Amino acid sequence: MDLRDLLGKSFDCACGRRHTVPTEHLVFDAAAIARLIAAAPAYVPHPDYLILADRRTYEVAGRLLEEALKKEGAPVRHFIVPDPGGESPVTDDTTRDLILSRAPPAEMYIAAGSGVVNDLTKWVACERKKPFMTLATAASMNGYASANVSATIHGLKVLFHAQASKGVFAVPAVIEDAPFDLTAAGLGDVVAKAVSSADWKLNQLLFDEYYCQFSVDLLKDLEPVYLNHPEKIRKRDPEAISALFHALFWSSVAMTITGTSSPASGGEHLVSHTLDMYAAAKGLQHDLHGKQVGVGTILSAALYDRILRMERPSIRNAPSDIDRSFWGPLTGIVEAEYRKKLPKLDLAARKLSRPKTWDMLRTRLQKNLLSPSTLKSCLKQAGAAHKVGDIHIDGKSIAPELFLQVWKNARQMRERFTVLDLAVLVGIMPEQADDILAEWVLA
Ligand SMILES: [Zn+2]
Ligand SMILES: [Zn+2]
Repeated sequence: MDLRDLLGKSFDCACGRRHTVPTEHLVFDAAAIARLIAAAPAYVPHPDYLILADRRTYEVAGRLLEEALKKEGAPVRHFIVPDPGGESPVTDDTTRDLILSRAPPAEMYIAAGSGVVNDLTKWVACERKKPFMTLATAASMNGYASANVSATIHGLKVLFHAQASKGVFAVPAVIEDAPFDLTAAGLGDVVAKAVSSADWKLNQLLFDEYYCQFSVDLLKDLEPVYLNHPEKIRKRDPEAISALFHALFWSSVAMTITGTSSPASGGEHLVSHTLDMYAAAKGLQHDLHGKQVGVGTILSAALYDRILRMERPSIRNAPSDIDRSFWGPLTGIVEAEYRKKLPKLDLAARKLSRPKTWDMLRTRLQKNLLSPSTLKSCLKQAGAAHKVGDIHIDGKSIAPELFLQVWKNARQMRERFTVLDLAVLVGIMPEQADDILAEWVLA
């Protein structure tokens, strides 16, 4: 099946649901700008465009698009999302309000950028009830075709539904030449599927929650390119960068068609969200999403590896409180989230105590997983973040002790049940946390 046939279509899936892919265009081509300009008029009553970008992405993509639109005689303006205090913009309520109050109205919004610019454009276009399109500048994260926005609101990292891009366009040379940090981060985000989909499956097995294998398998023909030849990512090999870009795109489609981030986001993402929240609460700059997710992914795989080796773990109850000393001023909002998880933790503990459930879990989860060594070596050979020291807060390597605290407590900030919770119930976390950290991500 050519995945492109799914664009803009609805279809019945083996999972029992009817899926709709709202994004109608995916163009990864040297002529992407011309193709965007040809596609856009279908979504507006009359041409009237606003390009959103940051300072850097305007230079590599936004300006060219604006000039090309002007040449066509289309009314177009641009808005540069400012760099707060000289740092890159972030997706939060303050930045959204700033754009809403200053950016001129338009019939269509076009994000010229990657993660943050795309999310902010999605958010603002949704608030103003207008469609948006994307001119991508990096293979840095899997949000391009997702209808969700991942943002910080009142200090809590949240995910909410907005709308999906009508079309994602990219000039291959721009994606290949993007700052390498961004590309490497994209790899970290996409390999997370190996553990996030297992977390999702875990929820189906334990709580009879909805699960769709089709959406998990959307990327499977692209994965061998970067999993088997990660060094090609480091060398910016066009075939590998193309596979990465497309895998990220279809990963975002997987989230959109299932209406949940679960296909691509589990415990490893909670580690990244916690790092973001920790930094934001202290007024510090956090690192790239995909870098944090990549390290979280190795750790989740290491947890699964230890957990699934256990023949008959004795199941214990999870603590009913969060770690107040770690969360500090965020205690209130995190506590509210964790309270929602408590019934699930109880139910999981009861179910896991049945030997039959445990045996079934061990066989069924294995199919989704990759080993921690496969993931570690993939990220390492690609030149991506694969150890704690690669993660920065305010430009400096995070202290291992702080990272350990983040990893131990990340499970408390969302209702979602993940391997981080499972590890607590079987007695691996927090007892073996130091040991696992040392084994996998300190060097
Ligand atoms: Zn499905
Ligand atoms: Zn992600």
